[in-house]
Amino acid sequence: MSTLRLEVVTPERKVYEEDVSMVVVKGVAGELGILPHHIPLVTPLKIAPIKAKKGNSEEFIAVHGGFMEVRKDKVVILAEAAELGSDIDVSRAQQAKERAEQRLAAKADEVDHKRAELALQRAVTRIQTSGQQ
Ligand code: ATP
Repeated sequence: MSTLRLEVVTPERKVYEEDVSMVVVKGVAGELGILPHHIPLVTPLKIAPIKAKKGNSEEFIAVHGGFMEVRKDKVVILAEAAELGSDIDVSRAQQAKERAEQRLAAKADEVDHKRAELALQRAVTRIQTSGQQ
């Protein structure tokens, strides 16, 4: 079976590097499934879990924005932050989610809504990714 190399990298570390049969990501224009021999592509990503298929198993990785580059049989995802499901501290994400929701509900002028909205998306993505292990 043909495979492609998936690398997920942040400024701090390499989070993931494996040969996989398919990668499913949420690009800004919608969901994209990348199979071996895909045409070259660069796209920004949404804050969302990505899915890597390996044989019969699936792995989920929380990817917090960034870009995906598809070139030959290699997919490189560069993101500000990314975590494997097993590395996610769910109670920390739950607390971050509650903080963000409180900020958004407060509607106070000093609340940076865009920032709270992004924090909420990161927290929800972490909770979803961890739940899909
Ligand atoms: P928090 O408010 O809990 O810090 P955050 O969304 O502001 O969350 P980030 O700035 O996105 O956090 O990430 C900072 C670092 O902490 C990154 O290395 C990220 O991978 C890690 N990280 C954040 N939340 C979690 C979590 N729930 N479990 C594991 N690692 C996390």
